[in-house]
Amino acid sequence: MERIKVSKLLKSVEFGMDVNVKGWVRTKRGNKNVAFIALNDGSIIHNIQVVVDVEKFDEETLKLITTGSCISVIGELVESMGQGQSCEIQAKEIQVYGTADAETYPLQKKGHTLEFLREIAHLRPRTNTFGAVLRIRHAMAYGIHKYFNDKGFVYLHTPIITGSDAEGAGAMFRVTTLDAANPPKNTDGTVNFVEDFFGKSTNLTVSGQLEGELGAMALSEVYTFGPTFRAENSNTPRHLAEFWMIEPEMAFFEITDNMDLAEDFLKYLISYALENCADDLEFLNKMYDNELIERLKFVVENPFERLPYTKAIDILVNSGHKFEFPVSWGTDLQSEHERYLVENHFKKPVILTDYPRDIKAFYMKQNEDGKTVRAMDVLFPKIGEIIGGSQREEDYDKLLARIKEMNIHEEDLWWYLETRKFGTAPHAGFGLGFERLILFVSGMSNIRDVIPFPRTPKNAEF
Ligand code: ATP
Ligand code: MN
Repeated sequence: MERIKVSKLLKSVEFGMDVNVKGWVRTKRGNKNVAFIALNDGSIIHNIQVVVDVEKFDEETLKLITTGSCISVIGELVESMGQGQSCEIQAKEIQVYGTADAETYPLQKKGHTLEFLREIAHLRPRTNTFGAVLRIRHAMAYGIHKYFNDKGFVYLHTPIITGSDAEGAGAMFRVTTLDAANPPKNTDGTVNFVEDFFGKSTNLTVSGQLEGELGAMALSEVYTFGPTFRAENSNTPRHLAEFWMIEPEMAFFEITDNMDLAEDFLKYLISYALENCADDLEFLNKMYDNELIERLKFVVENPFERLPYTKAIDILVNSGHKFEFPVSWGTDLQSEHERYLVENHFKKPVILTDYPRDIKAFYMKQNEDGKTVRAMDVLFPKIGEIIGGSQREEDYDKLLARIKEMNIHEEDLWWYLETRKFGTAPHAGFGLGFERLILFVSGMSNIRDVIPFPRTPKNAEF
């Protein structure tokens, strides 16, 4: 008999049919006549209840069915008399695939803290919370590809190992096959990377943007969606050392087009979650964040506030609010400042533009004022920065001047500069942190809880 997933069974099976379900036992209770097994197969947050007429089964087999064990059940789908479920399975045959010793199975009891669950990342997908988060994560990945595909964007795979360390978005992880204990040296004592695998020093990418721009200068509209790595030692609830980023890059887009796309994209994804992840969102809304669904709807239904950095600084300086980090024109905004603007002042998502050039990357298009660049950061409630983007400097001379001014190795970027030499065009793009999106959509509060296996300083166990 063919196995049916619980998600499908709850939607489409008629009472009286025999079905085969397979999954992991969440609980087993009952008495000496009848046992009730709550079975979950990860296809949906809901369990299916299996009713076992004890005397029809071998006692030794039934003993093996404990929380965490894996079983296959064949039985008739019947209307449920119990509360909280519409149907249940009257078991006819049960096969035990794998037992889970009650003494040692870590998820024996419910109600573990999220901190504890991080220590058992290999098992936490079996909890309701992580099932919900991981299904939402999947739906968002699918929604992202669907959004761009429907708009005619090309998915561009940019390299994970990069030879340029000029991206400037954060400290990098080196990739090498040299002997760590005894690397070849130059006469001045520095490591000789000519002997290394690629014949030069290489790192894990911090962003696919620069290569994304190369794609946009041929395919018009591209996006990347891949892992990025930053060796920053920032132990915050919003930073990972390995995270996924979505980076669209569009030829012929100016900063306003870029903002329009970012806002439309985020609203599309949140609507997609509301439509396609309703059960999981309801669960998370109930368990973790009673305002979650309301907040998601609010963001979809209201226009984002757009204003220049300079005005935002005025608001912050005049707010009378005591910030941990002082704020004045020229400083980079901390998450507390971003959240003040979003949560206290405007009470909705904010897009800040025209940041001081000195706190932003070399490739951003310079404004006429000589002080600011056409940057745009999208700030979200509870998160702070969720998107960072800009219109890019398309003028060869201005770009080169900025590279020199910032002491970036020009020779590492010759290929990037050539796009401005050969058929340059106005263009723009942005980067959306995938886990920040999942944080917002799921209502979870720590980024370690929205990726299956988080990579953070001193933590790469699983
Ligand atoms: P922040 O100021 O929050 O550290 P950033 O300005 O360094 O972020 P960008 O280089 O602009 O980040 O990266 C684009 C997006 O990637 C950010 O808007 C954010 O959503 C996400 N992001 C950046 N760093 C991290 C990280 N360490 N972990 C998870 N997501 C990140
Ligand atoms: Mn940024």
